[in-house]
Amino acid sequence: MAGRAESTVLAGARVVLPTGTVENGRVTVEGTRISGTQAENAPVLDLSGHWIVPGFVDMHNHGGGGASFTSGTVDEVLTGVRTHREHGTTTLVASTVTGEMDFLAERAGILSELVEQGDLAGIHFEGPFISPCRKGAHSEALLRHPDPAEVRKLMDAARGTAKMFTLATELPGGIDSVRLLAEHGVIAAIGHTDATYEQTVEAIDAGATVATHLYNAMPAIGHRAPGPIAALLEDERVTVELINDGTHLHPAALELAYHHAGADRVALITDAMDAAGFGDGRYQLGPLAVNVENGVARLVEGNSIAGSTLTLDTAFHRAVTIDRIPVEDVVTSISANPARLLGVYDKVGSLEPGKDADLVVLDEDFRLKGVMRKGEWIVRPETATS
Ligand SMILES: [Zn+2]
Repeated sequence: MAGRAESTVLAGARVVLPTGTVENGRVTVEGTRISGTQAENAPVLDLSGHWIVPGFVDMHNHGGGGASFTSGTVDEVLTGVRTHREHGTTTLVASTVTGEMDFLAERAGILSELVEQGDLAGIHFEGPFISPCRKGAHSEALLRHPDPAEVRKLMDAARGTAKMFTLATELPGGIDSVRLLAEHGVIAAIGHTDATYEQTVEAIDAGATVATHLYNAMPAIGHRAPGPIAALLEDERVTVELINDGTHLHPAALELAYHHAGADRVALITDAMDAAGFGDGRYQLGPLAVNVENGVARLVEGNSIAGSTLTLDTAFHRAVTIDRIPVEDVVTSISANPARLLGVYDKVGSLEPGKDADLVVLDEDFRLKGVMRKGEWIVRPETATS
């Protein structure tokens, strides 16, 4: 079964490459990777009428399939990862929510093992260094000012697998924490913030490069007080995360971000919680109880939106069909940009020879039909092999 049997040619589809879309394109998979050479006599899967796009990269995700990355067992975390893979996310960063420092350090240890074995692409600490004014679904009693020593403690606990921290950079210690993260190549993301426009500019100058779910959990734009949104949208050094679930953002707000920042500076994320790919009901988000009704997650106390139940295949579908963003731009912001930010674009994020064979097959209506990760079908497209 070695050699030839490990090769597959995916043919006949529209293939979205970094240089544009190729009609009637081919992707040759050899083992776990995309191959640059023609595989002679390899089985051909006819995917006419379909799109092939790179596997999705989610840099902000708290769970799915009924499982939480903040509190679940290793098996539960893997269930969450698997659920998102079935929806096209082949690279996933696990996000934690606010908890006690010791608890988060312990979680970092557990999650870092899953990063080391290749199931996760890193850890994102969202909280506890965020603003009580913009706490969203984070436990207020556990919030702290950003402290470089404590940021350091979590980085150490994560043993090099911490990829991002969301900080309210206007709080005492915020700018020093941004500098520390930037020095270590960890993304400093501005979010759950009450910063002014000027304070946001200061944080970007100090090295912050991401806006955590732009618009959500930050002051709105005012014409005399433009706040963080204007600063984050206008600065070339910043990538803005967007939750495209139809609940967190009005389509016009998403379109505004695309038009102003450009697709190269947008990262589509889920910010998903346990109920993603699972269903309505009662859940826990860290210490807080959440009720999910009609796919919308809200805190039982206070009614604040508590993460999403989004999966990236839906985010993709909405972006193309409702928001009318060109397919190539959606691919850029759902795969390439987050892969670049995470420092893994040499392996994933585009369909290029030598990279992991991570790809998503969509039908003409942009519905997910297949998912391949490292050359293996997670979801096998139902078409005839010739
Ligand atoms: Zn989040």
